[in-house]
Amino acid sequence: MEKGLLVVISGPSGTGKGTICRELLKRVDATLSISMTTRAPRPGEKEGRHYYFTDRERFEAHARAGGFFEHAEVYGERYGTPKEPALEALAKGRDVILEIDTQGAMQVREAYPEGVFIFVVPPSLAELKRRIEKRGGESPEKIALRLSKAEGEMAYREKYDYAVVNDKLARAVDDVRAIIRAEHLKVESNRRKKDAAGTVDH
Ligand code: ADP
Ligand code: 5GP
Repeated sequence: MEKGLLVVISGPSGTGKGTICRELLKRVDATLSISMTTRAPRPGEKEGRHYYFTDRERFEAHARAGGFFEHAEVYGERYGTPKEPALEALAKGRDVILEIDTQGAMQVREAYPEGVFIFVVPPSLAELKRRIEKRGGESPEKIALRLSKAEGEMAYREKYDYAVVNDKLARAVDDVRAIIRAEHLKVESNRRKKDAAGTVDH
């Protein structure tokens, strides 16, 4: 059976990755990977739906046991992609979406180069600030930390396969759908070329 497509979506905090993924899942048949994190839930966030919320000790134990596809420290908290569910879904032919930061995405690129890597760009830094503040759930210090990292993160866009500007949400979701569709239409020999550029067997 043909393996599913691994779609990695990154971008600065507040750029709209989560919103795009939610809309995308209404339109494409794919599995969204649920990450583990040590950060506290925001109002309305549900265990097992948005994240698996945990403490540092349990997170580190899971990391030591090799349970993560990738993991990283982001804005002072730990985040990781559980390995088994993602690999199992891919093996069953399902497309899997990872919404992860740039450090995690670069780890996945090493381990799984045939994935498709999409960077979501905010229309402007002013709009990014507005979105983070509107979303709420974070202290002013945490908001400032996220904003201060945004410019540095933007430099990573060059390391991705695609950049999608999230100005109008519907347009951004359409763009991501178009990328996924195009990747499915890619001829096999081109996929293998990308695969061969990778370093790790799986
Ligand atoms: P991220 O997952 O990248 O941190 P979110 O999906 O949580 O970002 O979005 C941050 C805030 O911006 C949310 O309040 C969301 O409703 C809003 N938002 C997302 N996309 C758009 C858009 N295209 N236009 C206006 N607001 C948006
Ligand atoms: P938030 O706290 O806003 O939900 O997420 C903060 C950052 O952590 C975002 O850039 C998000 O993409 C990233 N993130 C979420 N889950 C993971 C994960 O499993 N691994 C990595 N490396 N980053 C993640």
